[in-house]
Amino acid sequence: MLSIILMGPPGAGKGTNAKRIASEYKIPHISTGDMFREAIKNKTPLGELASSYINQGLLVPDEVTIGLVKERLSKADCDKGFLLDGFPRNIAQAEALSKIGEEIKKPINYVINLVVDETILIDRISGRRVCKTCGAPYHIKTMKPSKEGICDLCGGELYQRKDDNEETLKSRLHEYHLQTEPLIEYYKSLNVLRDVNGSQDLDVLFNEIKEILKGE
Ligand code: AMP
Repeated sequence: MLSIILMGPPGAGKGTNAKRIASEYKIPHISTGDMFREAIKNKTPLGELASSYINQGLLVPDEVTIGLVKERLSKADCDKGFLLDGFPRNIAQAEALSKIGEEIKKPINYVINLVVDETILIDRISGRRVCKTCGAPYHIKTMKPSKEGICDLCGGELYQRKDDNEETLKSRLHEYHLQTEPLIEYYKSLNVLRDVNGSQDLDVLFNEIKEILKGE
């Protein structure tokens, strides 16, 4: 069982690194942000509710998010492991996750924390573009696609997330410091937290993560 939480502030590279780890270890990549965006795209009631919070840079209420994650982790493709990206985002979610883990016998065994300086975060988020079809991440300066506006992987159209603007980013960072950052101490005290430098070269970082997960 390889169950990982990938943590870090907005723009730390959770999505990019999560995709790589999930593909290397053949485990599902579970991103609550992606789940909400999918629901918004499909105009479901969940999407409608989530978008009002997401567009303000606020967290979607716990009862909604926790229920969603519980349902997803209960699926058979998570039996051999999973990678959580963007969940938990506060102590209540972390406590709920530990309870869910016990209930469905899928406990967390690694928490990897991407550490990135705040000035880099702002630059990364303001230049971020995402594929509308497959969700692959790009950056207008540092991770350009070979053809402008088009995803290298699937040919989908690249767009800028609605919440990737300066104003919303401010409240997302505020939410991060207030609600998510305390999880660092929480997981440290459980002796499962591993800090990695999220601003280094992606290949170097990936090797460091593989070293942490060695033997899996
Ligand atoms: P992300 O794609 O992880 O940056 O998430 C985008 C937005 O979705 C966040 O700013 C929140 O509004 C919402 N969201 C994602 N994950 C969670 C979560 N675990 N709890 C509450 N809201 C979340």
